[in-house]
Amino acid sequence: GKRHEDGIVLRDIVLAFGGVRAIDGLTLAIAPGQVHGLIGPNGSGKTTTLNVISGYYEPQSGALRLAGAPLPAGRPLLRAPHGIARTYQTPRIIGEASVLENVMIGGTLQGHASFVETLLRLPRHHRDEAALRQAAHDALQAVGLSALADARADRLQHSELRFLEIARALVLRPAFLLLDEPAAGLAAEEIRQLGELIRHISRHGTGVLLVEHHADLIFDICDHVTVLNLGRVLADGTPAQVREHKEVVSAYLGG
Ligand code: ADP
Repeated sequence: GKRHEDGIVLRDIVLAFGGVRAIDGLTLAIAPGQVHGLIGPNGSGKTTTLNVISGYYEPQSGALRLAGAPLPAGRPLLRAPHGIARTYQTPRIIGEASVLENVMIGGTLQGHASFVETLLRLPRHHRDEAALRQAAHDALQAVGLSALADARADRLQHSELRFLEIARALVLRPAFLLLDEPAAGLAAEEIRQLGELIRHISRHGTGVLLVEHHADLIFDICDHVTVLNLGRVLADGTPAQVREHKEVVSAYLGG
């Protein structure tokens, strides 16, 4: 169907560290414009899956495709021109720089490349600094941090840093956004705001892969949920379908 042709598809992915298979034959499709939740216990392979999609790890076997074409191997930065951006569990912020500057160089830290290299890899219309600045303002507006654009980033609170981290990925105007535990350390009201932001992002056409411990957030906002266990898919479907899955209920939902 269309969702498979346009989306990110992982097929039979295996990735082992030493003898341990962190991902053990994983098949998964992430559709454009949808919020796709990835949950599972610690060590089930969630972050490793995100790292494979973002190009941080090269799987030992299996296929990874975007819109029907194989994704080239390479550093995470090389994924950005293919429309895939990510955030990190620990926001990678430059404290001495302004909030706006942090967004402008957001792509840099996607792959530890230089600022210039990042600019060269940005879509052509971003190469011009004024256009990049405007894109950074747009991203800050989207996450609700416009008022803090000129503040030093090290003045931000934890929750503001989490939203800044998302802005630094949004500035790339990604077709797909990979979020690694964006709700970590957030209060209930901040998690609600985060959920609204993620829905907003997907409504504008960006597919979101959401790796998250907060099952409530996952089941509230996702169109599709995949539950991992031991590097494999335990359950996959709509939130309603996954909620009915016996093993999921007993293991993760306290049923
Ligand atoms: P999750 O995100 O679901 O907690 P991870 O993807 O972080 O799970 O880890 C899956 C498995 O892979 C775990 O057994 C973990 O110890 C192992 N693992 C992850 N990254 C590495 C690494 N860089 N080196 C060795 N083992 C790793």
